[in-house]
Amino acid sequence: MSETLFEQIIAREIPAEIVYETETTLAFRDIGPQAKVHVLVVPKTRYRNLAALAAADPQLLADVVASAEKVAELEGIKESGYRVVFNTDGDAGQTVFHVHAHVLGGEPLSRFGA
Ligand code: 5GP
Repeated sequence: MSETLFEQIIAREIPAEIVYETETTLAFRDIGPQAKVHVLVVPKTRYRNLAALAAADPQLLADVVASAEKVAELEGIKESGYRVVFNTDGDAGQTVFHVHAHVLGGEPLSRFGA
């Protein structure tokens, strides 16, 4: 049994619209998009949040960021601008505890905050 649904997506046990994949990362569309483009990038190895990933495997974090950049290019939002967000724990509202980068764009984004 997978620990979070993202492991199930990585294992192709549940469907997702995959937009990019590398040896170490997978990118797929968010099921509840918050912008015209909303893609999640996950490392294939599970770390619960950004802090855990950064501490354990900086190269894998770099892979996730590089994949987020590639997704922006593939989605055609590199020129217009986009946002990459890691929600981390309670106050940020992280709901899936397999670290993931949100790639958001395709339209003007509202400023973040409380
Ligand atoms: P978090 O709130 O942890 O930063 O982000 C989790 C994201 O996962 C949310 O934006 C949510 O819409 C997305 N999500 C939750 N369940 C699924 C699912 O089954 N499939 C996909 N593609 N995204 C999901």
